[in-house]
Amino acid sequence: MSADRRTTDVAIIGGAMTGSAVAWWLTRDPAFTGRVTIIERDPTYEWAATTHTNSCIRQQFGSEINIRLSQFTLSFMRDIKDWMGEDAPSLPVQSFGYLYLARDEQFANVLREARDLQVGLGASTEILTRQELSQRFPFYVTDDVVLASHGTRDEGYFDGNTLFQLFNRQARQYGATVLHDEVVGIEGTDLRLASGATLSAGTIVNAAGPRAAEIARMAGSDLPVEPRKRYSFVFDAAEPLPVDLPLTIDPSGVHVRQEGRYYLAGCPPDDDAPVAPDDFELDHAIWEEKVWPALAARIPAFERIKLMQSWVGHYDFNHFDQNAILGRHPDAPQLITAAGFSGHGLQQAAGIARGIAELIVHGQYRSLDLSPLGIERIHDNRPARERAVI
Ligand SMILES: Cc1cc2nc3c(=O)[nH]c(=O)nc-3n(C[C@H](O)[C@H](O)[C@H](O)COP(=O)(O)OP(=O)(O)OC[C@H]3O[C@@H](n4cnc5c(N)ncnc54)[C@H](O)[C@@H]3O)c2cc1C
Repeated sequence: MSADRRTTDVAIIGGAMTGSAVAWWLTRDPAFTGRVTIIERDPTYEWAATTHTNSCIRQQFGSEINIRLSQFTLSFMRDIKDWMGEDAPSLPVQSFGYLYLARDEQFANVLREARDLQVGLGASTEILTRQELSQRFPFYVTDDVVLASHGTRDEGYFDGNTLFQLFNRQARQYGATVLHDEVVGIEGTDLRLASGATLSAGTIVNAAGPRAAEIARMAGSDLPVEPRKRYSFVFDAAEPLPVDLPLTIDPSGVHVRQEGRYYLAGCPPDDDAPVAPDDFELDHAIWEEKVWPALAARIPAFERIKLMQSWVGHYDFNHFDQNAILGRHPDAPQLITAAGFSGHGLQQAAGIARGIAELIVHGQYRSLDLSPLGIERIHDNRPARERAVI
């Protein structure tokens, strides 16, 4: 083997949450005896979506597969020591719940229907009338609210960063190799790297997050995934609320939740267009002109708040139907994609990565059938649209 030509059985492009989790599931499967190589352009993960996340988990989705994926992550974290060893830290969910507000009958019906599905699958979603909402959370202004949907158990913040570190560290302990390099071209099963080296792989996994469409293009395929900015703001309130603030999804497009003793708000820009993958410029007017007014209108106690920290992250936004895109590309079968998470990828990584590893090792999904999120739906124009997006 020459110095600039290497081989591996599975090459994973991107070593953040998704890529590390795929490597972890592969390396711990006794039926898999191959080599796993992660290629990561930035091993500090400074700009990865994984590092800019809000790290919450919910069961209030509109599709069975998304609910089951979150429920798997919840059980994985509950049994973390069985999965990851006695030394693994506990990863409890800070369960303040998501609280969706509907101000028209159309969205109210979406929430009612979704509640039936969620409860049927074991979630604790409650529909609250305006009066019930005011009684339970008297700090909201509710004049314009038709109803609310609140998850009362197993929804809230989880320590996704620690989970990522565990997947990454243990995958390396079990034998996965991390190459600090950038994939700049794909010819068949050969990856061309920025360093000039070539990596020849049996299977290639595209876990490149917001850059996933670039990888697909290198392999001669398309992916409806693009980087889209999402703003996050941490603030302090002069008058803290008497209870933990649920992750409140306001009809204005702003969401806000408890963040320790502070609060965290977020939103997309008004012009929610794709951006360059290295554009992390923050439009400071968004806080003054959009977020703060929306917060104060919904929760008058938030008239007196102080901004502590803000950042921009990129969703790997699937503009086809806002759901993960998984599986072998019909026109480039050596390439398996796990991208397009549209803001819910951190909570889905454990279950999705398990499925991707099963696909590689066993040729099919074994534990949870991920085919509703299959890439074929893009080619067949069958959207699996998620209506509860934040
Ligand atoms: C503001 C914000 C809030 C969010 N909140 C939540 C939330 O509350 N709950 C939730 O579940 N999800 C949330 N998400 C989404 C979640 O963070 C992402 O879905 C998840 O982190 C995606 O992980 P990933 O590993 O697929 O992608 P990334 O974390 O983006 O990692 C992709 C990696 O690929 C590498 N890469 C790219 N191209 C190449 C190349 N050519 N060669 C080598 N390496 C390459 C990159 O350097 C990067 O490290 C949020 C995201 C944002 C931005």
